[in-house]
Amino acid sequence: MRAFACPVCDSFVAFEADHCTECQTALGLHLPSRNMLALDEGAALHAGSRWIRCNQHRTLACNWLTPEAQDPGSPAGHRGRCLAGSLIRREPPADDTLAREKLIPTTVALRRLVFQLADIGLPIEPYWHVDGGLAFDLLSSRSTGEKVIIGHARGVITIDVVESLDDYRESLRVRLGEPYRTMLGHFRHEVGHYYQNVLVETGTGADTYLEECRRLFGDERAGYSEAIDRHYTLGAPAGWEATFISEYATMHPWEDFAECFAHYLHIADTMDTAREAGMVLHADRVRFNAPRDIVALECYDDEPIERMLFDWKWMSLFFNRVNTAMGKNPLYPFEIPEPVVQKLGFVHKVIRDTARRR
Ligand SMILES: [Zn+2]
Ligand SMILES: [Zn+2]
Ligand SMILES: [Zn+2]
Repeated sequence: MRAFACPVCDSFVAFEADHCTECQTALGLHLPSRNMLALDEGAALHAGSRWIRCNQHRTLACNWLTPEAQDPGSPAGHRGRCLAGSLIRREPPADDTLAREKLIPTTVALRRLVFQLADIGLPIEPYWHVDGGLAFDLLSSRSTGEKVIIGHARGVITIDVVESLDDYRESLRVRLGEPYRTMLGHFRHEVGHYYQNVLVETGTGADTYLEECRRLFGDERAGYSEAIDRHYTLGAPAGWEATFISEYATMHPWEDFAECFAHYLHIADTMDTAREAGMVLHADRVRFNAPRDIVALECYDDEPIERMLFDWKWMSLFFNRVNTAMGKNPLYPFEIPEPVVQKLGFVHKVIRDTARRR
């Protein structure tokens, strides 16, 4: 994540901030320029047009800006929302106050996702703009009437807002034997299904990538419901660690791709956050034998995946020790075997090629 600066006093500003804690200037996040803009009487001028606060500023603590002249294609109920907010197709009704409380941390994770997708150059086509475009149904499994299952179908990503409750999500994590479970992780995994569909399986992607994708991840035409049954009856096959990033990835080629996509986003964002903080791991300042200074790059587009994962290996070892120093679990409790390096390399290539074409 980018480390923003206040445009008035240059102080550090957090991604979620709506004002500068040093000089108190009202701020809003301007997605196209990836900057915080200072608001004067509720508006900021950028390249000749006026940007105003997203109308979910109070209700969802959204600090993003939206053009004062709205996209006429956006749904009537979503006018005045920022891009991330406009992707929410369904949400708990206003009178479901318990579910609305959980919607707030859920949308914090959504905005982190959307910012990163825009930042790495992936297309974000809203459902209200194109058929099969990206949509989020952020629903509560504790509200009456409807079963909420986290998943993706034809561009629509469903997220259970109840998982934003730490005790509930943690109990699921332990019961399912997962080393890692977060709201942002759910978003990154599900959006991986969406991008596999639009960038790899359909359109020009099918000619370019599908064969290689099947070679690395397996044939996605394998029966999905049988795969779920098998996974929840028998679990992951013995020795899965040699070829997969997680047990869940063993279930079906689609899940393997989505898991790798999520890991790519985890790794890219965490390294970028360290780089934006000015962090360098100096080989000559440690007691052990380190191969060289680790300086994360602003852009790995021209580098092989091995370079990115080498930097990540050393950085994640450092972050793991930081977490355990605080009595917490390691930050990145995963091993990346060689076949997963190849899978991450494929994700790297698809994202880079897509960003370059745009
Ligand atoms: Zn300031
Ligand atoms: Zn918003
Ligand atoms: Zn999945």
